[in-house]
Amino acid sequence: MTSYQAALTADAAKWLVARGINREAASTFRLGVVGNPFPGHSRHRGFLVIPYLDRDGKPLMVRFRCLQEHDHRAYGHGKYMTLDGDIPRMFNVGAVHRAGDEIHICEGELDAVILSMLGLHAVAIPGAKLWFSRHRRMLAGFSRVWVWGDPDDAGAELTNKITRALRSAKGVRLKVGDVTDTYLAGGPSAIFDLIQPKELTAA
Ligand SMILES: [Zn+2]
Repeated sequence: MTSYQAALTADAAKWLVARGINREAASTFRLGVVGNPFPGHSRHRGFLVIPYLDRDGKPLMVRFRCLQEHDHRAYGHGKYMTLDGDIPRMFNVGAVHRAGDEIHICEGELDAVILSMLGLHAVAIPGAKLWFSRHRRMLAGFSRVWVWGDPDDAGAELTNKITRALRSAKGVRLKVGDVTDTYLAGGPSAIFDLIQPKELTAA
């Protein structure tokens, strides 16, 4: 993992900056690139490595994201990939331990990185199929769980699943795009405006 982190290429760093993620955040989240692949990773050469860190910052599993703008299927892979046998986990699970009364659930890992950069405690569940009852138990103690599902059908499915499971959960109404799109378009205030208490937005 450390060798992948060291292999964060200038191109990948530039790609991350274009998505609002600075060097510091990339380093905190130990983002990297598959340079010299470990056995079993060769088909992910050149991919962004997104480690799922435990609460102490140790990687539990990784997810790969293709950095090319092309039809990923035509190249025989998905935009995001995991290794066979990895059990689905919550991204940035340490946030559950560090957060106070409120926590944020994003759909994309890099969306959770953006919210973390803004000082919010954020995890990611990349899709409704990856939401499990143990996640509900992990989040049951929070007084507010904000759900940042993407503004599409898949995002609505994730948001609905979580808001049905947790009374404290509230879907955030993203309009411009996902968290990253919203942040790139309007900066931090575009994010914070979406989670104002009702009485403040009405004023
Ligand atoms: Zn691809």
